[in-house]
Amino acid sequence: MSGLYIHIPFCVRKCSYCAFYSLPMPWKNVPEFFQGLGKELNNLPPDFFPETIFIGGGTPSAPDIQTLETFSPMLKRFKPVEFSVEANPGTVDAAKLALLKWSGVNRLSIGVQSFDFQCLETLGRIHSAEQAEAAFRLARAVGFENISLDLIFGVPGQTMEMLESDIDRALALSPEHIAIYNLMYEEGAPLTKRNLPRLDEEMERDMYDRIRSRLQAAGFLHYEISNFAKPGFECRHNLLYWSGGEYIGVGPAAHSHWNGVRWANVSDVNDYCSSGPRREFEEMLESDAKERETLVMGLRQLAGVEVSSRLWKPLEESFRSLEKEGLLVITGRHVRLSEKALFVSDAVFAELV
Ligand code: SF4
Repeated sequence: MSGLYIHIPFCVRKCSYCAFYSLPMPWKNVPEFFQGLGKELNNLPPDFFPETIFIGGGTPSAPDIQTLETFSPMLKRFKPVEFSVEANPGTVDAAKLALLKWSGVNRLSIGVQSFDFQCLETLGRIHSAEQAEAAFRLARAVGFENISLDLIFGVPGQTMEMLESDIDRALALSPEHIAIYNLMYEEGAPLTKRNLPRLDEEMERDMYDRIRSRLQAAGFLHYEISNFAKPGFECRHNLLYWSGGEYIGVGPAAHSHWNGVRWANVSDVNDYCSSGPRREFEEMLESDAKERETLVMGLRQLAGVEVSSRLWKPLEESFRSLEKEGLLVITGRHVRLSEKALFVSDAVFAELV
């Protein structure tokens, strides 16, 4: 199985916590970017037939409808099983959503982040909670039957009651999927520089536990550290990443892993347009490194992974010591994170790479 990721690097405004490569308005080079993207798509390997497509960014729903109309035919030759697009509630309308549906998009990921006014302000989002709810209802009205909501918890000033209210409002919409991430303080991001009082770790852990119990009680399957789905609605594109599958990323700053080679496109729109596109990083992974990476990605899934006999030997000591600490559950050579480890998974992964 393989996947195609497309990076649209335009946003209306930068959110305060964002570390993704994206350009706030006013934008330059939009037509040149889409021309470059068309070329890169045309030059994909002839034996590349992605089963999933994921358009992210940036804000794929930010460009105007005329621009999106010129982009849509570039993807017509693909026949993915799952075709996801990220949408920002501040940039969608009925016409754009209808165009996405007509273009074959069958999964929408709406970046809500929070329904709380104060949290939205702190995160620097461009939309209100009401706009997020309206975007969701519009997407349903247009015919989307697979919608994910992206949320963030652990925002400075957020209380457990505010989180409960976010969960209530998310569940009231009846999405098929919810991704909820603990806020990261990225180096250089405006939110990090503001030095607001952060929530303590115990509070964040309590919040994570509350999220898990509320969403599971509502019929969601907790299938990855930060991802919850109604049965059958797990994100196939992300499952591909978590199971060591191959993918090609197009657009500036997009990452690829194809035929054993990993690379990243240049993180600059102008450079991307003129160099068409230049790789700013490329490496061939040794099989041992690749296996360890796949193991760690696989452990993100709550179902865990079966470890090969080749990898078991050098890692057995680490596995056993993590098991003793109550962080791994081991059955034969099948390994999974324990409930206790879910909130501190990065520390567990650091022991295994
Ligand atoms: S909309 Fe997404 S990509 Fe754009 S600035 Fe906000 S977080 Fe970053």
